[in-house]
Amino acid sequence: MGISLWNTRLDVPEFKTSSENPEHLGDVIDVEEQKLFPVVDWQLLQRQVQTCQACDLHATRTNTVFGVGDTSASWMIIGEAPGADEDLKGEPFVGKAGQLLNEMFISIGLSRETVFIANILKCRPPNNRDPHVEEVAACQSFLEQQIGYIKPKVILAVGRVAAQNLLQTKETIGRLRGEKYSYRDTGIPVIATYHPAYLLRSPLEKRKVWQDLVLAKKIMATR
Ligand code: URA
Repeated sequence: MGISLWNTRLDVPEFKTSSENPEHLGDVIDVEEQKLFPVVDWQLLQRQVQTCQACDLHATRTNTVFGVGDTSASWMIIGEAPGADEDLKGEPFVGKAGQLLNEMFISIGLSRETVFIANILKCRPPNNRDPHVEEVAACQSFLEQQIGYIKPKVILAVGRVAAQNLLQTKETIGRLRGEKYSYRDTGIPVIATYHPAYLLRSPLEKRKVWQDLVLAKKIMATR
């Protein structure tokens, strides 16, 4: 598939090299870590997102949706883009899909407050259409900086759009889920799973999401 993949299913292997595992890099920010995670000014980043006009979506948005949660969280949840509810409130995953996402967290002992939730796009695409390539490109640096600042121990990519963009692949979500990948060359594990909006339409798939959450939790326990 041309993406970093550890063949794990539900058993979690050791990381192979220290450069793949930021935990081995220690607390002092060294040159290598700075290359992986350039220093980010969080307040400045928030202002840049709020005032961004890098793509056409700025013209139709009500609010930008920066992200919400604990900026030192171990878990980062990344979705696709704001929908109508999120655009109105300026907060990710506040609609029906968001409620289900919250229930997913609770099922593995997490909460909205103890994770950080963001999206591939910070602005709502009209009629909830898929993000365009140029919109993703325009927004990419914001998400990269958020990941670099938070340095999560695991990233949960919810839905096809999030998974494909984070892993830079065109593979289907059905084939991506259930495995452990790495976010670029940072060594941060990525688990892809179905989007909660899909689960609202296909509740029988909840079992697979549960398996993915258990896998992510197992990985967390090794970090
Ligand atoms: N779907 C997403 O992917 N993100 C949101 O914030 C809301 C719905």
